[in-house]
Amino acid sequence: MVKAVVGANWGDEGKGKITDMLAREADIIVRFQGGANAGHTIINDYGKFALHTLPSGVFYDHTTSIIGNGVALNVPVLFDEIQSVVDRGVPKPKILVSDRAQMVMSYHILLDTYEEERLAKKSFGSTKSGIAPFYSDKYAKIGFQVSELFDEELLKEKAVRVCEQKNVLLEHLYHKPLLQPEALLKELHGYKEMIAPYVCDTSSYLYEAIQSGKHILLEGQLGSLKDPDHGIYPMVTSSSTLAAFGAIGAGIPPYEIGKIITVCKAYSSAVGAGAFVSEIFGQEADELRRRGGDGGEFGATTGRPRRMGWFDCVASRYGCRIQGTTDVAFTVLDVLGYLKEIPVCVGYEIDGVVTEEFPTTARLAKAKPVLEVLPGWNCEIRGIRTYEELPQNCRSYVEFVEKKLGFPITMISNGPGRDDIIYR
Ligand code: GDP
Repeated sequence: MVKAVVGANWGDEGKGKITDMLAREADIIVRFQGGANAGHTIINDYGKFALHTLPSGVFYDHTTSIIGNGVALNVPVLFDEIQSVVDRGVPKPKILVSDRAQMVMSYHILLDTYEEERLAKKSFGSTKSGIAPFYSDKYAKIGFQVSELFDEELLKEKAVRVCEQKNVLLEHLYHKPLLQPEALLKELHGYKEMIAPYVCDTSSYLYEAIQSGKHILLEGQLGSLKDPDHGIYPMVTSSSTLAAFGAIGAGIPPYEIGKIITVCKAYSSAVGAGAFVSEIFGQEADELRRRGGDGGEFGATTGRPRRMGWFDCVASRYGCRIQGTTDVAFTVLDVLGYLKEIPVCVGYEIDGVVTEEFPTTARLAKAKPVLEVLPGWNCEIRGIRTYEELPQNCRSYVEFVEKKLGFPITMISNGPGRDDIIYR
């Protein structure tokens, strides 16, 4: 059985917590897209961890963690991360890295940084982790695949070719120091040494695992609205954030993905630029940001404050539909306990017409939120373990959202811990 855990919104929905929780019953957890640009925050018996590259299942000793071919693999970040969990008493995780994964090189990070500098105020709000230049190179067919590390002749030839190409940009567009093929080759040799013990034909490994009935989790990064095709282009990430891409980024048959658990947060937050219809500002936003998540809504990678907003039924319904949701995990509901009344965005007004359909970017920029105000429950709900025990207004909020989404909310998360979960 293969299950995917993906996001309905702009990311930071709490996928890490849900994956960590479901990993208890899983054999294998696979990262299938994205890179070290976003992070998951996980709180468990070992403490609090911010992971960027390792899948959220690394904390169990019965699981195997896979970095799939679709990931933007930053080798030194992966290694530092393995070291940092081991240093804190977590048993050394079993990790396999796809021989078809491609690597983020130091020049990708430089190019990302230089481009953000060049765009200045018009930037996309990149985390400068090299992800956009990495995926551009992958599709331009000048990326470095892990398997290529073991072909010295190819590396030598390609290092020269890549430097020639990148140096045109570095010299004429960015006016920065040029790349040297010898230094690039040295970087690649370093990566080879670090990664060699973990390299595996992971799609073949997963094929065998599926045949023998193993439980596999695909862990997505970011959410539907950051998908390059279906999201708020161009304010999107550079790899598909959808469960469907899990088949490609892990190398498994699409029909094996039997459950798509879409994680949806009880209010909205976003990082980076782009339209955010239900966004709130000032004190109202500050309070939600301070109370949000676990210890505030600040980026796990960058520490930058997240933009805050009320729950957006239009964006979330679309986000769930485009994922192919079978189950919704509704998270961070406990945070709303301080509110007497909770506004919810139920429609977008565009040029005087109200719609419940999520529009393309140009129309989205014109959308104004249509809000409906629901009564709050105004009390602490952490620690509650059954749906019936939740306050009536809290259940009404869940049921209102569920009706608007059109997909069943089967899990409610009411705290950051592994056991803060209510099944319906
Ligand atoms: P991800 O990228 O989707 O995994 O999400 P993040 O890890 O960036 O953000 C989720 C944050 O919310 C983390 O700090 C979690 O510990 C926290 N969190 C997850 N679920 C809950 C919940 O139900 N309640 C509270 N209060 N915090 C939660």
